[in-house]
Amino acid sequence: MKTKLEFSSGGIVINNNQVLVIKTKNLKNEVVYTFPKGHIEPKESSQDAALREVEEETGVKCKIIKKIKNIKYWFVYKGEKILKQVTWYLMQPIEIPRGIHLSDSSCGIKEVDEVLWIDLDKVTEILSYKSDKEIISLVKQQLNKG
Ligand code: ATP
Repeated sequence: MKTKLEFSSGGIVINNNQVLVIKTKNLKNEVVYTFPKGHIEPKESSQDAALREVEEETGVKCKIIKKIKNIKYWFVYKGEKILKQVTWYLMQPIEIPRGIHLSDSSCGIKEVDEVLWIDLDKVTEILSYKSDKEIISLVKQQLNKG
């Protein structure tokens, strides 16, 4: 099977001991809870893509504190094996909209069913992906160090 490489980036947005989580669906149409992210456009930096995707998917405008790490996973889509690398950034909100954010899926933006702020203490239970659980445990360790 042909393998295609894809690159995305996204944000772990922390505010008052809570983290920004999206409820969306995977390729099998199952509900997943994860962090906002998306495809890095040609000529766009991974930082700019992460900030843009977080705002498009959640409505929250952020600034980057630092890079956390790159993770990789793979899946099969339309007969192609996709190897995806995601760069995650630690972020802080600079503007949080009041009310509910509706992402506009008609212009190609991923459908986000809900945007949630979840307590850092409780988020591991709700996250769908192992790598997300690892990222949040890394973030908690780093925040505890000061
Ligand atoms: P992007 O947000 O990068 O534009 P997308 O929403 O089109 O991407 P992905 O989120 O990469 O697509 O989802 C494609 C497949 O990969 C889904 O079946 C999903 O369950 C799976 N997937 C997504 N994130 C992870 C992860 N962190 N670990 C393992 N599998 C994942």
